[in-house]
Amino acid sequence: MNLEDLQNELNATIRNIPDFPKPGIQFKDITTLLNNAKVFTMLMEFLESRYKEFHLDYIAGIESRGFIFGAALATRLGVGFVPIRKKGKLPFTTVVEKYALEYGFDEVEIHIDAFRNIENSKVLLIDDLIATGGTAEASIKLINSIGGNCIEACFLLKLLGFDAFDKIKQYTEVFTILDV
Ligand code: AMP
Repeated sequence: MNLEDLQNELNATIRNIPDFPKPGIQFKDITTLLNNAKVFTMLMEFLESRYKEFHLDYIAGIESRGFIFGAALATRLGVGFVPIRKKGKLPFTTVVEKYALEYGFDEVEIHIDAFRNIENSKVLLIDDLIATGGTAEASIKLINSIGGNCIEACFLLKLLGFDAFDKIKQYTEVFTILDV
């Protein structure tokens, strides 16, 4: 699978919604990718062929779009899936990480025993999009704090105009398919 072909297909299927959820934000709507069987499959084939060489133990996905791509990839690679959720949603004992937003803060959490079966697990973090990198940074800290080893963070889209890579590179490798 050729990266350039995939980039063209993603560009053609991901929908831009201006001023959502608030004025000035251009929202990248991936539902139009998900309901296109050809392109969704193409994307998953590409990710499978990239990550099968990594010999991962787990994939961790960020709520909520990271769940879709992460879980689909996990079954292709035959590895476990671990959800990283907004605070208050996970039922068992959690570890929490707070991070700054433009105004205020948010929190993400992970089950404390998520990687209990494999010591020093090799974990891939996945989400649909990276903007400031705040959510990803907090998520990597969570993974590494409970015995995981985040070896790469993967995003379909990277929003231009942010210095997210500088933030993330100190912790792990970063891979993105398309700059938007
Ligand atoms: P950040 O922490 O700033 O890197 O934001 C990343 C998170 O916010 C991801 O979970 C994205 O899905 C979501 N997000 C941020 N900006 C956008 C956007 N313009 N369109 C769609 N999702 C976004």
